Amino acid sequence: MANRSRFQAARGTRDLLPPDTAMWNHVESTARSVFGTYNFGEIRTPEFEVRDLFARSVGDETDIVSKEMFLLEIPLSDYRSYIEGIELSGIATTDATFVVLYFKFCVEAVEELKKGRIPSSSNKELLERFESRREEIRSQLIDARADLKNSLEFLREIIRNIDLGEQFALRPEGTASVCRAYIENSLQQLPQPVKLYYMGPMFRRERPQKGRYRQFYQIGAEVLGGQDSPAIDAEIIEMLMTFFDKLNLKGLELDINSIGHKDKSCRLGYIEKLREALGKISSRFGEDSARRIDTNPLRVLDSKAPNEQALIETLPKITDHICDSCKAHYETLKTQLQLRGIFYRENWRLVRGLDYYMRTTFEITAKGLGSQNAVCGGGRYDGLVEELGGPPTKGIGFAIGEDRLILSLQEQAREAAAQSGGEASDQSPVTSHQPPLIFIAWMGHNTFATAVRAAKDLRNAGFPVEVPPTELKFGKALGQADKLGAQFALILGEDEVSEGMWTLKNLTDGSQIKLPEPELIDHLRTIGTPRRR
Ligand code: AMP
Repeated sequence: MANRSRFQAARGTRDLLPPDTAMWNHVESTARSVFGTYNFGEIRTPEFEVRDLFARSVGDETDIVSKEMFLLEIPLSDYRSYIEGIELSGIATTDATFVVLYFKFCVEAVEELKKGRIPSSSNKELLERFESRREEIRSQLIDARADLKNSLEFLREIIRNIDLGEQFALRPEGTASVCRAYIENSLQQLPQPVKLYYMGPMFRRERPQKGRYRQFYQIGAEVLGGQDSPAIDAEIIEMLMTFFDKLNLKGLELDINSIGHKDKSCRLGYIEKLREALGKISSRFGEDSARRIDTNPLRVLDSKAPNEQALIETLPKITDHICDSCKAHYETLKTQLQLRGIFYRENWRLVRGLDYYMRTTFEITAKGLGSQNAVCGGGRYDGLVEELGGPPTKGIGFAIGEDRLILSLQEQAREAAAQSGGEASDQSPVTSHQPPLIFIAWMGHNTFATAVRAAKDLRNAGFPVEVPPTELKFGKALGQADKLGAQFALILGEDEVSEGMWTLKNLTDGSQIKLPEPELIDHLRTIGTPRRR
């Protein structure tokens, strides 16, 4: 027998299964409805984009871009780098071995072109030139006396000019794509600001742990264009809090900060002061933070290392060093939040890891998540659209980590069950709002057609229904219904079908009633009993 190994989901990815998926749908539909009331529309962008989009926006130096992106392969790029490497090393590349190497590259390029894996318009003519000399060069390769110099130059020229196409990356976040789409679809011509939300999978090659995955889901929103009034920042935070409120998620904490803007008079000036202060105590920091003092000193403030906390508290605080207009913006943001009855905590260490943020940054943490407790992060990013080739545009947005949000909701449901003395259950709270499941126990060959029709009518009326595909004995049918967690069994025997009087058995309390077929659905609608599971 062949040894068939079992496949497993890739590290850091997972399957989402019922009943949990009901919770996911509930979260997503709540987002749609709450965001809709703030007049946001949905945008769906591709799940992969040109790599440089993320490098330019999130930042080349960030962990996300430099270490964590899932990059898609570029055909022949390793091969070409290998050739370039040899040329750079100064080895004489004039003999036949190299012609073979170059020749083989071109042959493979022709194949890749045929398969449509490298761009056609830019390479077609070039590779046709190669094809026209292919046989001639091949015969030179088997002729020891042939002079290869000319062919070598010819092939080298082709390899240099071949266009292998752009590198793509699975998207690690959503904002860059939304900004790209804003520019590409000329959304600046619409009334401003444009308010968009999105939801879907994001990909980062991080070390997986509870609440941290390599494929995870975000629900995000962006406000692009128009003004940079702090009222917009406050309203987007209000929308978030309303969303969490509608999900009944308790114990959230909102941290806010202002990181100023990228200017000498503001954040850049602060970074210099910070670097100076850090330089004096750098030896007392661990390896990670010490490295960041050089590369990205702001990120030192993110450190969770226990022995670095007291040190960090001695550092200059960004909010004391931002420019007057950023300070004023921040002050108004706080008043705007108070006006909306939103509780916040000021956290001067909240700098966020992405390059594009300026002024307002915020983060929401939830309970029950251990170290990965941030469920949402966001901030203002005026200038990002321009950086990506669009017009000067204001922008602010957030991204909620849906996986963590759901973990937190489940944790809360478990705690509530434990406190009320009930059994801890991982039943998602939303399944209890579904209509009851009805199991159709049909017996006798002639009743099957009626069972199928009844199932269709019940399903049309919105009830979940199970019909066994083959006949089951009465006892077995009820056993099966019970296993599936059905609330009712609709019993259809030969007598019921011929009389038109159907039996409905309530599987929770054992009671049963007989009722005429046309009354069944109305009867079920009047009993709003929750579904068992
Ligand atoms: P960021 O895009 O890094 O600002 O992250 C926004 C939110 O996405 C975070 O607050 C998390 O809730 C969530 N998130 C980020 N990375 C991951 C991950 N690897 N796994 C699960 N959730 C994540």
